[in-house]
Amino acid sequence: MSDSDELKVLNPATEEVLATVPAATAEDVDAAVVRAVRAQSGWAALAPADRARLLRRFADTVDAHLEELARLEVREAGHTLGNARWEAGNARDLLEYAAGGIERLLGRQIPVPGGWNVTFQEPLGVVGVIAPWNFPMPIAAWGSFPALAAGSAVVLKPAETTPLTALRLAELALTAGLPEHLFQVLPGHGHIAGRALVDHPDVAKIVFTGSTRTGREIMERCARLVKPVTLELGGKSPNVVFADADLKTALDPFSFLDNAGQDCCARTRVLVQEAALDEARDFLADALAAVVVGDPADEKTQMGPLISAAQRERVRSYVPDGAPALRGSAPDGPGFWFPPTVLVGERHDSPAAREEIFGPVAVLLPFTDERDAIRLANDTPYGLSGSVWTRDLGRALRVSGGVRAGNLSVNSHSSVRYWTPFGGYKQSGLGRELGPDALTAFTETKNVFISTEGPVQ
Ligand code: NAD
Repeated sequence: MSDSDELKVLNPATEEVLATVPAATAEDVDAAVVRAVRAQSGWAALAPADRARLLRRFADTVDAHLEELARLEVREAGHTLGNARWEAGNARDLLEYAAGGIERLLGRQIPVPGGWNVTFQEPLGVVGVIAPWNFPMPIAAWGSFPALAAGSAVVLKPAETTPLTALRLAELALTAGLPEHLFQVLPGHGHIAGRALVDHPDVAKIVFTGSTRTGREIMERCARLVKPVTLELGGKSPNVVFADADLKTALDPFSFLDNAGQDCCARTRVLVQEAALDEARDFLADALAAVVVGDPADEKTQMGPLISAAQRERVRSYVPDGAPALRGSAPDGPGFWFPPTVLVGERHDSPAAREEIFGPVAVLLPFTDERDAIRLANDTPYGLSGSVWTRDLGRALRVSGGVRAGNLSVNSHSSVRYWTPFGGYKQSGLGRELGPDALTAFTETKNVFISTEGPVQ
């Protein structure tokens, strides 16, 4: 754990220093929260249509800088250009979607005796968002933009390794005309700036994405202040492939290699019905060999580097030399490279099959029948995501019903759509982001009863 007062941002594909940014202290966090409290009261007092208009303008400004944001994400996080463009577009689209919710953030009228009863969805105040390095821009957006739309101010702490796109988003918010200090980005260390945000009495809610270990600590600290928290944590998601499925689509290696596997929804447990196991192994061997790993700024590249040397060491620890595995290739030289890998000799209870590796490494495991598939899919402390592949609709529905995870796809590998709720069961998290209720998650419900009893006129 470092206490340095600067953060060095490296390009993970070259190991060159891209930028050095000051690391926020606890005092900096305190000052930012004071400013945010002030900004929030003005923001919440604006007419809903005016807030919506400003967020749409922010979306237009992001749109006008899409390529710049994407290229910054490529440089600081090693994402492929195609992915990074999608990520910047996702931030823009979520702003539009959240803006559309502002004028529809409805309360309810509830029938009661003796009067009228109405509920109001009131803004929380100041929301703290703590983001990870794996999808710096979208995850910052998922926590922050619905909160802004619901009338709160946001103080966002990006990950130590990837503060640049978040800082740029905050500048673009000002360019678009959002009030000063409404959306502040404070790069800093987790145990200093992150903890100060969590412990601050004027921060009404924490939205955290990252490791289960840190999420647990944040939840404990929030409990002391009875502070609500949304946790998006780790995953070890199953890809359940029945023998009747279209194997080539079902075994798309980018279901676990996208973003070099640094994806909490990565389908890293490839569960294949026994009858199709040999074919699956042959297919994956060819598919891994064909993956283009290299310079993420090159349009043809399919997989970039890992985020850091430390992450590469962590990933490597799950793949000992000589482990039975299918392997692709990766560049030598500078950069935090790791080849696409599928471990084929693991037991379902081995560390590689149970723990989140967060790299381009999956395990191939057989199952016998539907019951066995559900049992293995659920044999994990996580429950974030997963896929089910079969042409039998009844079976697809039964397996989707049996797997305890927050985001399942049938005959698809998709996970996160801003229109639909996203979050995990079990140790994958608490609460949901995105979807039609995204704004409500940043409100308190106030109930007001109005008596109609009085002297009869
Ligand atoms: P982390 O959980 O330590 O960091 C995530 C964010 O939390 C960062 O912004 C960090 O500065 C902040 N943070 C750290 N300690 C904090 C604290 N005590 N109080 C408040 N904020 C704190 O994750 P990591 O160390 O960067 O990665 C470790 C592992 O976590 C990865 O290998 C991966 O398995 C997992 N991970 C999961 C996700 C996900 O999306 N689910 C994202 C990143 C990492």
